[in-house]
Amino acid sequence: MAITERSEGTDLELTAVDVSGIVDGVRTTYNSGRTKPMEWRQQQLGGLLRMLELEGGRFEEALALDLGKPAVEGFASDIGSVATEIAGVRKHAPKWAKPRKARLPLTSMPGKGSIVPEPLGVALVVAPWNYPINLLLLPVAAAIAAGNAVIAKPSEIAGATSSLLAELMPRYVDSEAIAVIEGDVAVATELLEQRFDHIFYTGSTEVGRIVYQAAARHLTPCTLELGGKSPVLVDDSANIEVTARRLAWGKWLNAGQTCVAPDYVLVTNKNRDALVDGMRQAFADFAAGAGTKTNADFGSIVTDRHARRLSSLLDDHGGTVAFGGDVDVDAKYVEPTIILDPSADSRIMGEEIFGPLLPVLTVESMAEAVQIVNEREKPLALYIFAEDDDAVDELIGQTTSGGTCVNQVMLHLLPPELPFGGVGESGTGRYHGVSGFDTFSNLRSVLKKPTKPDPKLLYPPYTAFKERLIRRFI
Ligand code: NAD
Repeated sequence: MAITERSEGTDLELTAVDVSGIVDGVRTTYNSGRTKPMEWRQQQLGGLLRMLELEGGRFEEALALDLGKPAVEGFASDIGSVATEIAGVRKHAPKWAKPRKARLPLTSMPGKGSIVPEPLGVALVVAPWNYPINLLLLPVAAAIAAGNAVIAKPSEIAGATSSLLAELMPRYVDSEAIAVIEGDVAVATELLEQRFDHIFYTGSTEVGRIVYQAAARHLTPCTLELGGKSPVLVDDSANIEVTARRLAWGKWLNAGQTCVAPDYVLVTNKNRDALVDGMRQAFADFAAGAGTKTNADFGSIVTDRHARRLSSLLDDHGGTVAFGGDVDVDAKYVEPTIILDPSADSRIMGEEIFGPLLPVLTVESMAEAVQIVNEREKPLALYIFAEDDDAVDELIGQTTSGGTCVNQVMLHLLPPELPFGGVGESGTGRYHGVSGFDTFSNLRSVLKKPTKPDPKLLYPPYTAFKERLIRRFI
């Protein structure tokens, strides 16, 4: 049941999609109980794994078409790492799905307490374009592992990948319970009018608000994996050569179009120039003498509209371009660019950059850096570069964020043991590993009591003796 509303770039070939009919069909499957047995869940997860293994080459081609992703980047971020995580989900799902014993206080004795994970029902997963396979399949896998039926909506902006997912998924998984619906904002809007048991949305904070409001109509629980500006604090104790290289990599990967890409850097005068020089050198090393414009290892901006937006951020920032600055909108190319000390009220310091531009702000001290970070919305990621462990702990204690990586960028989202998500404006809810399983589960509390004994203490009449006991023990 793959429903294809083909979209390539911004040219949509629209065909009518019976959104409510598909959702009803998937719900009928869910209501039949088919998705609950662990055996079915394992088969579907196995199907996803087979798809990634057998169709990896086609996925890499689609990613190259949509985002100019180098094959190795596509494999690492959207195929290999996704398969590894899904294999872990498949392995652990039987254990996660078991009732979890709860210890009971004396007042609940005799009895047995447990938390029983059960599926929520039909889940909607809406994904963005920047890691279009990863950000669709990981929540889909978590939903399946927890026994749900799923409607998956890939991003129309990564049109080639979206079409390929819609074509391939029905060949590998039970399409009566796991349906892919392609489409643009109109289709997404229609989807949001349907009733779901969970909505898992990844994308911009702006659209996150729309999704949350739509979900409120049906009181549907939501996970919102959103974006925002992820700051980098470079302490005076940092290893500047390594910091520079790792920050440059954070802006090189997917041409900076990563939700947890470093968005702006705060550094004191002591290290600022060495950091900027180090990044210049790192970009040159990555480009291996070939520059970035036609470099097969450097991705492109997803559409010319997005390239134009990035270009406009360079128009009026009130700072100095330390290096870079070349933009070719038609070629969807933006050069890695460092902007020194843009003004606080510039657009580049106001909105998420989501591209290979990186402002570097000079601060008097880390105390001032913390103040700048804390005046803004709570970030999805916050990075700290420091050799001094006390400084690291202090900076973690003085700030907040969805996640933090120390002395590296972005890699905190890889281990399934670390729940991934935002806080405040950068999102709500978590996934990866068992946290993804729990997100798509109703953790049902069950207390089992024997019928004997049946002490009369709880029941009226409330004698003085009973009252004394109740006041003492409860
Ligand atoms: P996008 O434009 O592809 O939109 C995401 C999805 O929302 C798409 O499937 C799209 O069809 C749908 N959509 C768009 N407008 C809608 C509307 N009005 N109503 C309902 N659905 C609508 O992607 P994007 O939003 O440009 O993605 C980039 C943003 O996503 C950035 O802010 C980035 O930080 C964030 N992001 C967050 C994470 C995370 O894990 N927290 C991961 C990747 C991207």
